[in-house]
Amino acid sequence: MPEPTEQELRPIVQNTRDLCRELIKRPSVTPDDQGCQPMLAERLQTSGFTCEPMRCGDVDNLWARRGAEGPLFVLAGHTDVVPTGDLSAWTHPPFDAVVEGDLLYGRGAADMKGGVAAMITAAERFCKVHPDHRGSLAFLLTSDEEGPAVDGTAKVVERLSARDEHIDYCLLGEPSSAQVLGDTVRHGRRGSTGATLTVHGTQGHVAYPHLADNPVHKALAALNTLAGAQWDNGNEHFPATTFQISNIKAGTGATNVIPATLEVQFNLRFSTELTTRAIWQRTDEILASEGLQPDDYTINWQVSGEPFLTEPAALTDAAIAAIKDICGTDTTLDTGGGTSDGRFIAPTGAQLIELGPCNATIHQIDECVSVTDLGLLSATYENILSRMLL
Ligand SMILES: [Zn+2]
Repeated sequence: MPEPTEQELRPIVQNTRDLCRELIKRPSVTPDDQGCQPMLAERLQTSGFTCEPMRCGDVDNLWARRGAEGPLFVLAGHTDVVPTGDLSAWTHPPFDAVVEGDLLYGRGAADMKGGVAAMITAAERFCKVHPDHRGSLAFLLTSDEEGPAVDGTAKVVERLSARDEHIDYCLLGEPSSAQVLGDTVRHGRRGSTGATLTVHGTQGHVAYPHLADNPVHKALAALNTLAGAQWDNGNEHFPATTFQISNIKAGTGATNVIPATLEVQFNLRFSTELTTRAIWQRTDEILASEGLQPDDYTINWQVSGEPFLTEPAALTDAAIAAIKDICGTDTTLDTGGGTSDGRFIAPTGAQLIELGPCNATIHQIDECVSVTDLGLLSATYENILSRMLL
């Protein structure tokens, strides 16, 4: 397929821009959906989708499916946005959806109301032209991706699994692009786990150290070894795992008091060479090897997500070819960035990629997206659907 002409692209750009503006005007700060999902459900119903709201706690989720056969192709995303920050710092009010030149400004423009709007308009055109497409097309939307993400995508996936509804392919419209639209497609993400380590000691006078037990001194060697450890070498798709201390706290503020405890927070972003279990075990081993006995400390671990990877196959091929067709851009497959809701969907065995607008302004003051890119993105999504469901 050749790149779309300007004339072909114009209505796609306008339609996607208008929908994105409607979404931005609803100040849907996590987890408050502000009616975004009902508005989208109404449009999807018109295109033949069966819509099933799945509210969990104070989180709105929407599952909308068109067709009963496999394979099941899912377009996934979130309607919630992060807070605006200082309102007076914005050039245009963050929920006014002002268009200036080719840029549409607003909280969520890039992360990820632009992607959601492009997915909806792509599905609308695709279903109109190919009402009898093969397999099924579905939307999975949540209003809690930016928050705790407990009652969002994870819960929907749980419900789908419970009734044997299996996702074969998933396209997540998160802002994956770096410099130009389509230059980066994510086909996996690193895992993330972190801990609060509290090292116990005995408070005392610095002049009488024999009557105290300094937790800072006890922990120094272990912290140094943790920070310097080679956790793995990464692999073909992932960089080496990294360990970072983010907070460290001890002492009363007085110069003559040995503190009673030391508290350290750290995080690891890790590759598919490791699991959270392996990391936790190795951490305990390092602490022991540097003289910290189990009685000397408590450690509370948090898991944000295990790493996941979609090996290059049908879906990545379709995305790479579609981006070349529509945008004329060569794509890099990448596993960078933070975690995403892909971490809940990929473990079901689905092939999963993330493709969306440029991410330079996400979560920032003056978040914005190129209006032309919104149209190109929608055309690219439609092209991917044609490759996968015709
Ligand atoms: Zn996002």
